[in-house]
Amino acid sequence: MRLNEIEVQHYRNYDGLTLDFPKTLNIFLGENAQGKTNLLESIYVLAMTRSHRTSNEKELVHWDSDSARIRGVIEKKTGTVPLEIIISNKGRKTKVNHIEQKRLSSYIGQLNVILFAPEDLSLVKGSPQLRRKFIDMELGQVNPIYLYDLVQYQSVLKQRNQYLKQLAEKKQSDLVYLDILTEQLAEFGGKVLFARLEFIKKLEHWANLLHKKISHEKEELAIDYFSSIPLDKENISLEEIQKQLLQSLLDNRKRELFKANTFLGPHRDDLIFNVNGQNVQTYGSQGQQRTTALSVKLAEIDLMYSETGEYPVLLLDDVMSELDNERQLHLLETIEGKVQTFLTTTSLDHLNNKLTVEPDIFYVHQGEIEREA
Ligand code: ATP
Ligand code: MG
Repeated sequence: MRLNEIEVQHYRNYDGLTLDFPKTLNIFLGENAQGKTNLLESIYVLAMTRSHRTSNEKELVHWDSDSARIRGVIEKKTGTVPLEIIISNKGRKTKVNHIEQKRLSSYIGQLNVILFAPEDLSLVKGSPQLRRKFIDMELGQVNPIYLYDLVQYQSVLKQRNQYLKQLAEKKQSDLVYLDILTEQLAEFGGKVLFARLEFIKKLEHWANLLHKKISHEKEELAIDYFSSIPLDKENISLEEIQKQLLQSLLDNRKRELFKANTFLGPHRDDLIFNVNGQNVQTYGSQGQQRTTALSVKLAEIDLMYSETGEYPVLLLDDVMSELDNERQLHLLETIEGKVQTFLTTTSLDHLNNKLTVEPDIFYVHQGEIEREA
């Protein structure tokens, strides 16, 4: 798929701006603090309705304004789709084909994006929370039902933790209500877990192919899902997962009541990356960790294509300067020609002599953008 044009109004440091993108590779060039990341972020928000940088929506709206608007025209195999999102202190309003969408899951998935920023290179080294967010974002885009189940899971989890606190403080004593919440948690948690296990298997397939290539066939990458409950992961059915999750929650009830917290379930899980059988987070060199992060990130392109029949749009924020020459070439090779890419940089030095397609270059300066003639 492609983003053919975008219009942003009162978004971050942009007053108003309309751009069209006939070329596959679009480079946004400018000095620091001019609005390069803001523009990529606006594309990300158009796709995901949320920013990757902040959960505070107020920050997205221009200081002098009450609401921001982003409109885009997406081109897919099935035709063109206008998308629109309005952000204000009243919340977010989303439209597909000019029709307002009440459900997040009927909006997300229209435009698929993959964002790659320098902090993604810490996917391997960073916190488990970062890896969970990674799964949730990527899986949510190709599977909107997952997003729905995840939101339900999080809402039951919150209720359940509140209730556990009330029980601990002896403000409540009814354990039957805890049973009901536990069953609901196992139902949605099981769905979340099931979808994640499937997703990780596919991601591993594509990521390993790339990892092998980047490492000149010297390294194999395996991705394991670390579950906080004991799981027999081979060919397990959804019902079986829900049953096992429920059982684990019941087995740990005493501890949960004592700690007044739910400490088992997908909100506590993690990913483990193994290179040639060794945990790369613990034993890998910095280069191996970067190759792993790059492979996993780029694998999403192939995965999304195999799931949806369309390539996603790729947003590369400042990553070229973070990669060595060889990894830069791999990155460009993966995308060139087939994946529409929006790339920000402060200098063209990392790109010179490496591009095989003619890019459009846009100069970004103080919230204004000019296309190179
Ligand atoms: P770098 O190369 O350093 O990453 P950049 O071009 O990516 O720079 P951005 O992050 O896109 O920079 O823009 C940052 C600027 O946007 C900040 O300096 C800030 O002044 C401005 N900005 C951020 N939020 C708002 C807002 N809500 N209203 C107006 N301006 C804003
Ligand atoms: Mg930036």
